[in-house]
Amino acid sequence: MQSTNGFMKALKCRECGREYPLSATHVCEFDFGPLEVVYDYAAIKKSMTRSAIESRPQTMWRYRELLPVAKEPTVGTQVGFTPLVRAERLAKRLGIRELWIKNDTVNYPTLSFKDRVVSVALSRARELGFTTVACASTGNLANSVAANAAAAGLRSYVFIPSDLEQGKIINSLVYGAQVIAIKGHYDEVNRLCAEIAGKYGWAFVNVNMRPYYAEGSKSMGFEIVEQLGWKIPEHTVVPMASGSLLTKIHKSFQEFIKLGLTEERPYRVHGSQATGCNPISAAQKAGLDFFKPVKPNTIAKSLAIGTPADGFYALKVMRETGASADDVTDPEIREGIKMLAECEGIFAETAGGVTTAVAKKLIASGRIPAKDSAVLCITGNGLKTLDAIAGHTGTAREIRPSLREFEALLSTDEASPAIA
Ligand SMILES: *Cc1c(COP(=O)(O)O)cnc(C)c1O
Ligand SMILES: [Zn+2]
Repeated sequence: MQSTNGFMKALKCRECGREYPLSATHVCEFDFGPLEVVYDYAAIKKSMTRSAIESRPQTMWRYRELLPVAKEPTVGTQVGFTPLVRAERLAKRLGIRELWIKNDTVNYPTLSFKDRVVSVALSRARELGFTTVACASTGNLANSVAANAAAAGLRSYVFIPSDLEQGKIINSLVYGAQVIAIKGHYDEVNRLCAEIAGKYGWAFVNVNMRPYYAEGSKSMGFEIVEQLGWKIPEHTVVPMASGSLLTKIHKSFQEFIKLGLTEERPYRVHGSQATGCNPISAAQKAGLDFFKPVKPNTIAKSLAIGTPADGFYALKVMRETGASADDVTDPEIREGIKMLAECEGIFAETAGGVTTAVAKKLIASGRIPAKDSAVLCITGNGLKTLDAIAGHTGTAREIRPSLREFEALLSTDEASPAIA
């Protein structure tokens, strides 16, 4: 290890560049700019070669030098390295030459990309001496904090909007977390959590621990590059809630270029949202570099953040990479979920429907050219948002246990062209 801080040097304000010690703090005292972890890239370059990485276990921690922990991680050590799947049938359906699915619906242990950010945040929280962890969540983050805290023997409080899907609520309660449902939308939950974080000495993963937490998202981008044979994809389509994941995928590509792990090439990181909560995509489409807050109303509850903390920076990344954003309605989200399931056998939650349906729009309009190659970041599992598509999948057909009844049913199928 390099020093007591590992490969981290300091926290640094994204606005004025002032540096802060590596504690549990997230805003600059002078301009309220967000703080970000700074690394010792010269030291990292010595130990992080392609062959060194390839020899390590297949988890997100194979990129450990670029993740903000001082010592070896202690929480979520099995997280990440989810499949990157070549999606030939979906490519044909969407009209693009080459398509890949980064499948975080099967991330360990709570089936969403949030396990990445939580393993970093809780490992770091332990290093800093915290025994109680907490979060403000649209659902998946609460699930992951609850599960990983349970496994680590930490106490957890998770705060959610009270109108979340059953699947997301039960998936937090089962681990014995303290689940606090707030009568209000996420932005109100978040505001309350900022007050609580200031008053109690807890590690709020996405409040005072945010600089560390957010870095965990980079692992999704690192994995994509390595799994493509150390190449950055021409196009990556990313769902946006706070906008953090999109900015960190860009950062992951930039860091791999800086360390010589991949060749520099033009690439675009596109953003996707639901029309019922589209502050970032509306601003991108209007050519603005700032967003107007909205009041969310969509089935994509995991993305329902009306005042996105990283919206400004997500817009900047899209501008700098020449990328686009778009948004889709609730019926389009359901259609996206079904397209992905029918073509690739992957059942995503609503956020995955958003990303698939937005990719369809970007390809159809030429913003992703048909001759190019694209990766879709599919970030959560459909088993957690059954409410969103219940009643929209058709129904099972019931017969008595009789061969004659089955054959009668089959003869009506054979008359229809849907069965090949
Ligand atoms: C949290 C979340 C995202 C993106 O979150 P950001 O705040 O933009 O980083 C995407 N998909 C799912 C399923 C999520 O839970
Ligand atoms: Zn500052």
